[in-house]
This record gives sequence, C-alpha cells and structure tokens, in this order.
Amino acid sequence: MIVAILGAGPAGMSCANACLSFGLSPVVIERTAHLGGAQRSNFHPNLWLLGFPGESGEAMTQRLAEHYRALPVTTYYTTQVNQVSRNATEFSLILSGLDAPLAAAAIVLATGTRPRATPELERLAETCPRILIGPLSHAIRDHIRNARVLILGGGDNALDHALFLAELGNQAWVCTRGALSARKPFIEDCQLREEIELRANCPQPRLGCAVDHVVATWPGHQSRFDWVLVMYGYLPNTDVLDAFDPAIRPALTGTGYLHVDAWQRSSVARVYAAGDVTDSPQPSVPTAMAQGLTAARAAERDLAGGGAI
Ligand SMILES: Cc1cc2nc3c(=O)[nH]c(=O)nc-3n(C[C@H](O)[C@H](O)[C@H](O)COP(=O)(O)OP(=O)(O)OC[C@H]3O[C@@H](n4cnc5c(N)ncnc54)[C@H](O)[C@@H]3O)c2cc1C
Repeated sequence: MIVAILGAGPAGMSCANACLSFGLSPVVIERTAHLGGAQRSNFHPNLWLLGFPGESGEAMTQRLAEHYRALPVTTYYTTQVNQVSRNATEFSLILSGLDAPLAAAAIVLATGTRPRATPELERLAETCPRILIGPLSHAIRDHIRNARVLILGGGDNALDHALFLAELGNQAWVCTRGALSARKPFIEDCQLREEIELRANCPQPRLGCAVDHVVATWPGHQSRFDWVLVMYGYLPNTDVLDAFDPAIRPALTGTGYLHVDAWQRSSVARVYAAGDVTDSPQPSVPTAMAQGLTAARAAERDLAGGGAI
C-alpha cells in the first residue's frame, strides 16, 4: 500500500525508511530539488544526535541522503501537491509534472518550517542582498567579516548568531521589540562580549538598502550596517493544506502547527504528520526522525484492517 510522504527532510526520509520495514510502499514528494530539509546548510555540529560527535548538519544530511538514496523509495523532486481528495478507500494526489494522479492509502505531512519575517522585510530581502532572513546561510559563514551587523530578533538563534559573528571579528547589534527571549546562557555569553550590544524594547527600524550597506532608521536615530539578519523565529509549512479538499483538511493547533496525537495521527483518518510541522516541544533531527518512524508505524497499524476510511 502506498504512503504519500510530503517533505524529504529528516522526518520524511525516516518515515519512508520505516514504511519499508513495515511492508508499506513510500512515495516521497519534495518541493525543492534536494533531500535534507533545514539541516542542509547547517555548518554547526549537531549537539542533539547521540553517536556522531562534531558532525555538522551538512555532513549529517549527506550521510542520511546517501542511505536514503540506496532505498527503494520513489521520490519526486521539485514537485508541488496541487490537489488532494479522497474516495471511500484511498486518497488521490494531483502532483505538478505528473500525468496521472497518485493514489495513496495514507498521507504523512513532513513539511517542516520556514524562517518567519514580516511581509515588508520579505519584500525588501528579495531585492536587497544585504538583508538575510533566517539562520545559518552560507553567506553568514563565508562573507561576513569585520562588519557591523544588525540582528533583528531576541531568541536563541539571534543571540547564537551574535556570538558566532563576534568570534569572526564582527560587531553585532541585537534589536528586539520586547524582552530578550533567548535562554539565559546565550544572554550571559553575549553580555560578556564587547562586540555585542543587546537592545531590548527596540522598535523595528525602517530599512533603506544600498548595494553594500543598509541604513536603519529609528525615531530620532539612524545607523549604517553592513548586513541585517532577520531572526524572527519560524512558521510551519502548512500552505500545502490549501490543496486538500476541505473535508479532509487536518486541524491545526492554536499556533498554526499540525495537531497530532502520540501516534502522529492528525484529526483526519490516515493522514499523519511528523517533525517540525507539528508543535514539537523540542524540534530537532532525532525528534523528527522518531516522529517519522512513529507515523509509519501508525499507518501500518491503521491500514492493516484495509477497507473503507
Ligand atoms: C538554525 C537551525 C539550527 C538547528 N540546529 C539543530 C541541531 O543542532 N540539532 C538538531 O537535531 N536539530 C537542529 N535544528 C532543527 C532541525 O533542523 C529540525 O528539527 C529538523 O530539520 C526537522 O525536520 P523535518 O523533516 O520536520 O523538517 P525540515 O528539515 O524542515 O524538512 C522539511 C522538508 O519538507 C519540504 N517541504 C516543505 N513544504 C513542502 C510541500 N508543500 N511539499 C513538499 N515538500 C515540502 C522542505 O523543502 C523540506 O525539504 C536546527 C534548525 C535550525 C533552523
């Protein structure tokens, strides 16, 4: 029986691997051209995955991808899910680039999250190469040296990047609208570095973009920065639910993540969700992989009886 898995990050790849063990046939649909999801460009070591000390997210992704590619899993890359409907026994998925609909007995949503920004910042970043949205891009690692960097946001990612940039000889100004929400060790480490200035209750500045710098304007104050990093957290990738017929659209939590039970079952029979697209208490690679495995087990159990949905 075919299980359609949306997303080829750690949750989706793990789910596909587990489906094979449970005698199910996984078909993975990935909207980019790549395996690996959020960890593809993480150059930091993964501290949460026991057994691979010092291994970066990039290296881990290569290791997972190598294993995954050797599995008998059909994977459609750069593919969009355009429509999902259901009859008495199966789901039908209309995918971009495929002539015939894909029939599946179950669906697993493993679409992860994306960096959050205001619509105004998203528009600006499209034309301004000095404004970067989200963490850990190679541009941050490879190009930011001896620079003045404005970091918008006050969570762990914002402060982690301030520390990382200070190590590389940059000056970092952290500006967050309310109180700093990062964990205490990040705040304390930043307070010890003279290259880092932490500004809580700092209004979002108006940004003016030039080729090699950005001018930030606050009421009564203006400052020039070489780079601006936007670290406003994450949003779940639930836009794919627009393609689902309303009768089979799974319920969301109050914060917009997919609502699941301990078996990764959504509110719709035979639709499951795994990884960061669910409101996981500790989003991480091991969590996502375990949830992918659990979703496969739940599908195997639910499908064992066969019959109508
Ligand atoms: C900066 C940062 C640092 C982190 N550091 C660590 C760490 O050190 N250790 C750790 O364990 N974890 C870390 N994490 C968390 C970890 O990356 C995530 O928990 C993990 O990647 C979640 O896996 P996932 O498969 O749920 O989602 P993702 O990795 O986000 O993968 C989702 C996949 O779904 C695809 N997709 C999205 N929408 C669609 C769609 N509509 N149709 C088809 N495909 C779609 C995406 O392209 C992507 O390939 C970090 C995350 C970030 C952002």
